[in-house]
Amino acid sequence: MKTIISLLAVTILAAGCATTTTQHSSQHKHWGYTGHEGPEYWGTLNPNYSTCDKGMNQSPINLTGFIDSDLSPLVLSYQSGGYESLNNGHTIQVNYRAGSKLAVTGRVYELKQFHFHSPSENHINGKSYPMEIHLVHADAEGNLAVVAVMLEEGDENETLKEIWSSMPKVAGDKSSLLPAISVEGLLPVKREYYRFNGSLTTPPCSEGVLWLVMKQPVFAAKEQIAQFMGIMHQPTNRPVQPVYARPILE
Ligand SMILES: [Zn+2]
Repeated sequence: MKTIISLLAVTILAAGCATTTTQHSSQHKHWGYTGHEGPEYWGTLNPNYSTCDKGMNQSPINLTGFIDSDLSPLVLSYQSGGYESLNNGHTIQVNYRAGSKLAVTGRVYELKQFHFHSPSENHINGKSYPMEIHLVHADAEGNLAVVAVMLEEGDENETLKEIWSSMPKVAGDKSSLLPAISVEGLLPVKREYYRFNGSLTTPPCSEGVLWLVMKQPVFAAKEQIAQFMGIMHQPTNRPVQPVYARPILE
């Protein structure tokens, strides 16, 4: 319990990284996606990030070699709870009001926030997508579950249009979302998914995260994908990590 709470605290600290540029100490070094702050250095930037190097259940991965399992359906009950968007220097994150739930394998998780990566972090059968959306949930004990949705180039996405219309352009900035956003508009019609155990894809790369990757992608216009890349100025994906002995269920 204690370690899980501190894991969450560290996650929040890491997410706030870009906003505290002037206060960096050896305890809290900046990380990024390129150069000497890039993914291959994360494990040595800070002793708290050592799992990035040493972990055996790291995310993202290339999903392949699926094991046929009778996965129980995801029970998603999401409200229009996305009340603010935050540019944390690594992504655009939409913070979610309490009350939106995911139930799977006898556990109930609450949606905390969702955010974006471009290009996708996970690959499916070797295929990378132009974007990936991560819906981050936590249960009452602080265990994390991430629902990942791949995004393909196609028709304009209405939900993305609402979020992008007030996208905070500078790291550390926030925008209110009025009316509040529903993440439902970023989910595919079919709710089939792959399941595996993994980690946070950003420092401290903590493990014990349940990953649920939707099989079906959603669509967004080429310009909408370019808009996100334009704000972040760089790719925001950690490269795929070794799967080792992990089963990937479908
Ligand atoms: Zn993510």
